[in-house]
This record gives sequence, structure tokens and C-alpha cells, in this order.
Amino acid sequence: ESFDARGLLADLTPDQQAAVTHGEGPLLILAGAGSGKTRVITRRVAYLLRSGVRPSNILAITFTNKAAGEMKNRVEKLAPGNRVWVSTFHSLGARLLRQYGERLGFDRNFTIYDMDDRNKIVKDALEASGIDNVKFSPERIGGAISKAKNQLLTPPEYARTATDFFQKTVGTVYPLYEKRLRAANAMDFDDLLYLPAMALKKNEELRAELDARFKYVLIDEYQDTNSAQYEIAKRLSLNYDNLCVVGDPDQSIYKWRGSDIKNILDFERDFPNARVITLAQNYRSTKAILHAASVLIDHNKQRKKKDLVTDNPQGDPVNILTFDNGLDEAEGVVVRIKEAVKAGAYKYRDHAIFMRINALTRSLESAFVKHGVPFQIVKGLAFFERKENRDVLAYLRLLANPQDTISFLRAVNEPARGIGKVSLDRLQAFAADQEIGLLAAAGQVARITEIKGKAATGLRDFHRMMTDLRARLDLPPHELVSLVLEKSGYEAMLRDSTDDEDAERLANVGELVTAAKQFHEANPESTITDFLEQITLASDVDGWDEQADHVSVMTLHASKGLEFPVVYVLAVEEGLLPHERSMGREDEIEEERRLCFVGMTRAMKELYLCHARLREFRGQLNYAIPSSFLQELPRDVRYSDTSMARNQARSAADEWRAKVGPAAKDWADTGARPVIPPKKPTDYKPTIPDAPETGLAVGVLVQHEEFGLGTVTDVSGYGALRRVKIRFPGHGEKTFVADKVKLKIVG
Ligand code: ATP
Ligand code: MG
Repeated sequence: ESFDARGLLADLTPDQQAAVTHGEGPLLILAGAGSGKTRVITRRVAYLLRSGVRPSNILAITFTNKAAGEMKNRVEKLAPGNRVWVSTFHSLGARLLRQYGERLGFDRNFTIYDMDDRNKIVKDALEASGIDNVKFSPERIGGAISKAKNQLLTPPEYARTATDFFQKTVGTVYPLYEKRLRAANAMDFDDLLYLPAMALKKNEELRAELDARFKYVLIDEYQDTNSAQYEIAKRLSLNYDNLCVVGDPDQSIYKWRGSDIKNILDFERDFPNARVITLAQNYRSTKAILHAASVLIDHNKQRKKKDLVTDNPQGDPVNILTFDNGLDEAEGVVVRIKEAVKAGAYKYRDHAIFMRINALTRSLESAFVKHGVPFQIVKGLAFFERKENRDVLAYLRLLANPQDTISFLRAVNEPARGIGKVSLDRLQAFAADQEIGLLAAAGQVARITEIKGKAATGLRDFHRMMTDLRARLDLPPHELVSLVLEKSGYEAMLRDSTDDEDAERLANVGELVTAAKQFHEANPESTITDFLEQITLASDVDGWDEQADHVSVMTLHASKGLEFPVVYVLAVEEGLLPHERSMGREDEIEEERRLCFVGMTRAMKELYLCHARLREFRGQLNYAIPSSFLQELPRDVRYSDTSMARNQARSAADEWRAKVGPAAKDWADTGARPVIPPKKPTDYKPTIPDAPETGLAVGVLVQHEEFGLGTVTDVSGYGALRRVKIRFPGHGEKTFVADKVKLKIVG
């Protein structure tokens, strides 16, 4: 076939080829980690182009902007000269709302409000709601509104279904919140999905037009779409049902953001004629890594069993590293990486370190610095969140959208213009009364008789300056930023300050000019609105530079879709992975297990799962319980105790050897933990006698200092990994490290 010559199909398996060359009609590709799903979707886009489909008829959706950029580049290489629309659902929504804004009744220059902005609006709406003495936080109410939008519930629909006091409160605040957003000509993140989904639902003319425009819709990471996203995809595929989705239910990790595995079932219901293709071959990982990950995920009960195989070599066993404490862990991992690079085995960029939460990066950072190991912490665009940069961005947002309340209130007194809170309250009352924005109100300050003197002058001058700047909106973004810095007096304020920190702030706003310039160079036709949008919609991984030779550090969530030769997962401990929030809820534990699975399946050659005996967290040093996930791994993993207390381990080993005999040899000699071959590889429960015998067994009644009398419900693991589960009436089930917990055996 002529395509082969161009390398489109030659290096694909028959199953992958079938997916790539599938003709018209819906296509569902359900396949495991590393089976080439992303590769297939990229090739399919190129294949469609080569088959004569116009680039403008193709819409490809990825999970991050970074993945979108990569896919765009690959397609460009495979089918040169074609510019296909590849984006995330959120960027797609923003673009649709800007392009079709007028027809939908929105001003296309809207600002996108981030979580911070959102919470401020919620707070404001809550105060205005007339509900006295409400104890719910704006964050919690904002979260509930977000969820409602993801389920496409309008304010009246939500209010109708509200039952308890919290929901009723949300029901009252939700319409007020919406009103404030619209008045500020702002959209929150959820609106970028909710409003297009609603428009496609309600406006058949627009729907049919877009359906015909995007004849081919392709979605990667489909398992993590939410209802609003699915609604968009489906409604773009009614007349032209060439919807191709690829996903892995085992990698669904965004339930907390409204994603729903149910969408896969819905797909099969809504498109009963869909062709379903599975890909079983993993091309990423060694047999050892793939086996360990498969055995782990097999503990999920709500799961269709799916086997993954690979022709890759067996490779080294998966390693479980035990450290004394979190600092040792950070140090130990960094030193290992340094040695691997020194030995010439790997480059720094071949290594990734994952963790459940960002808070664990601090000790890593100092270890990297101490050992001179280059690293990048992939953590959002923290740079743009610095106060000085947010201030300057507020000016830009207000320029692009003069209705923007939040940005007005932020910019108006930075630098100080002598406008007090009372004057601002009066300005807001006037603006609300006249139904105009705050900036427009400032222009009419002469009409507000209660605002006098310095405040009146300040507001008038601010309005005049912003009007002048608005006349320059067509400048390239970086020139506009420079102009704002100059005209607003912000730069002068920092320059004139004697505060050292202000010198640093000055440098940072200078960097902001550079960032705008880089953006302009990469996107010459883009406007200030595009620049602002890119900053607001950036996800953690978008700022990641995978070319540079450094160790990448990121959360497990951010690691999705990526691959690295060597992977370390830190703090695989109860309370962190699985996260404490999931405790006691089986479906949440299953999501945590999927998260662990995602992390493990990023590894190509070597995988290290680390845990420490002591973990400092939220300023407290606690005994850390090794994650129950570690015990679910197959027998052929390798334990290494890198603990400083090696001697202690040895004496325990001696004791143990006396009991068990020669089988204990390995452990005693190496300091590593013993591994006893299980009877059935997949059904592994270590049955090593305890040393010393604790007397703990299922059904035994025990007394605990804090929780009182309880019944042992489970005992598992051995040594440092030995854990005991106890059910306390009134406290529920709790898990303890067997050799740390103080218990009195009652009977
Ligand atoms: P994930 O579930 O993690 O998103 P995926 O299914 O999207 O994984 P890809 O990232 O597309 O998998 O592919 C995994 C790795 O396997 C990549 O390095 C890819 O280049 C390689 N690969 C995929 N298919 C083949 C093939 N037929 N031959 C050789 N290598 C392949
Ligand atoms: Mg992928």
C-alpha cells in the first residue's frame, strides 16, 4: 500500500493498523497502558489526511496542551503542510465560545477565571445571598457548583434536586454566582465545557453546522472525560458519526474532577454500531514491570479483566525501597540517580520521580541542590501566580475585558492610588445600579457624589490611563506588557523601593515581558487574550521541558500518558497512596490503585517504589504505614532496606533465622527483606511466622489507648510491612503498623 512507503503503517501491529485505517463510523479503542493508543490516534489523523479528508474537518482532542502540541507536530511530520485542530476540551470550548460568542449571546472578549477568582466570586455571592451565618467555605460551594456544571445542571435544575442544607445553600448561591460571572463577562473553567455543551444541546442549527465542520472527531484519554465533555463529543458526531475514542478504564484517575468511566458504557449505548478494537500488546515496559502493574490492578473489583503482554525483555525485578524517613528517601533516590548517570547507564532526563502530592517535593529539592543533580519540578506555572505577576496580568485582563470585576479590584490600588474601601464599595453600588462595569463606573466618578477628593481623582486618572492603554490593544503582547508596566507606575513603584524583595519582583515582571515575547514569537498572530488564555488554561505538565537533561519530578496525575526509562514513586504509604481521603471507601481506593498503576506503567526499564518508616507531613513526624498496594504486588519484586538501622534489621534477621532456618539466609546476608515463594503467584499472601510472635490474629479482642476495645479484622505482611486492621465500635476500621502500635490483648 502506498501509505506504507511513507511510514504510516509499516511499524504497526495488525490491530493497530485496523484502528488507523478504520473507515467511516464510530470506533472505540479500549486498550491497556503503553499499547500504542496515542500512537494510533496520531497515525489515524495522518491517515485520514492522506485519504483526502480536509484538515479543517478533523478535530483531535488530547488531555493536556502539551500533548496537543506534540500530536500536532507528529501529524505535521507524517502529513506535511496540514494544520489540524488539536486541543484539549477546555481550549476547544474557549475557542468555540470566542468564535460563536455573538450567536450565543456572549461577548467574545471574556476573561477566564481561575480557581482563585472563582472563589472570590463565590464569596461575594455568598455574602449577597442573605443566608446568615453559613459555615460552608467558598471553596466547598465552588466545588459543588463546578460539579453541577459538569453534570450540565442549570441553577434551577440544581435547586430542584437539592435536598440537604448544604445543597440548598449551593442552590441559592449558584444563580447569584452565575449572574456575577456574566456581569463581569467572565467564564470559569467549567463554563468552557458547560456553555458549549448547552449550546450544542439547545441550538440545533449551530450543532449541525459544527457537526458538519468536524466530520472526524478523535479523543485520546477518553476514560477521563466528564459528562459535559462527552455531550460535546456526541453532539458533534450525530450526522457525521466518525467519532473515534481511545482509552483505558484502568487509567481513569480524575473522578474527583467529574470524569466518569460510565462514558465508555454510554458510548456503546449511544453508538451501538461502534466497532470495538482492543490492543493487547504493550510496547513500553519490561515483563517484570508490566507483570507487577497487572497484578496490582487486578485487585480492583469493578473492572473488566484485561491481559497485557509484551515481547520486551524480562528486565530487572521491580524494586521496593525502604527508607528510615522522608529525608533519607529524597537523599537516597537522588544519589541513586546520580550514580546511574555516573556509571553511564542513563542520562538525567531518563529519570522521573512521581508522588501523590506536591507537598513532598521540598526535601527532594534540597537533595538535588546538595548533590548538584539537575531537576525540574513539573508544577503548574507557579511563576504566573506570583503576586507581582498576577497584578500585572490583572491590568492586561482588564484591558482585554473592561467588565472584569476581579481584575479591576486587583489593579486599581496596585500601585496605591488612595482609593479606600468605602469609595470602592460606593463605586460597586453605583456600577450595579447602572448595570455597568467597574471601569466604566470609574469613568463616571463625577456622578457619584459620595466619592470625593483623592479617591475621585484616583479613579478618574485610572480610568483615563486604561482608556489610553486600550487604544493600544493591537500591540504584540510583550510590548503591551511593557507599556502597562510603564504607564501604570508599577515598574516605578518597584524600582523606587528599597526593599530587597521588590528588586526580585522587578526582575519577575521583567521575566513576564520575556514570557510574552516568547509566546508572540511562537504564535505571531496571537492577541493578548490568547496570551492570557494560555496562562490560565495551562496544566502542570505544560511547562515541562522534556528536552533538557534533568530529572523530572511530578505528581502521579501529571505523569499520565508519559514514559521514562527509570521511574521512582515516592511515599507509597497508607494515607498518601492510597490517599487518606479515600480510606474506607472501596471505589475511592480503586481510583488510588489506578493512580498507582498509572505511575508504575510509565516505567520502561526500571521501577522503584519507595516508602519510609517515618514521614514528616503537615509539620508532623509520624510513623508511616507501607501502602497496602505494596503487599498486593507479586512475589518477584525485590525488597531493599536502605535503612540506617541496618544492625537492627540484622538482629531481627538472626532471631528470625533461628525460627525459620536456612530459608532466611538471603535476608540475613543482604539486609534485604525476605521473600518466600507463594503457592500461587497471583494469590500471594506472605505466611511468614512473626518474630517475635505478637498473638495478633483475626477475631482477637484488643484494647487500644485511644480507641478502646476493638476486634482484629485482618493481619497481613511481615516485618516493617506487617499491618493489623482493627474495627473499633464507634471509630470504624483502622490500620496500624503491627510492631509500632501499642495494644493489649484482651482475648
Ligand atoms: P498510555 O496508556 O500510557 O497512554 P498508549 O497506549 O497511549 O499508553 P503509546 O504512548 O502510544 O501508548 O505507546 C507506548 C510506547 O510504545 C511508545 O513509546 C510508542 O512509540 C511505542 N509503540 C507503540 N506501538 C508500537 C509498535 N507497533 N511498535 C513499536 N513501538 C510501538
Ligand atoms: Mg497514551
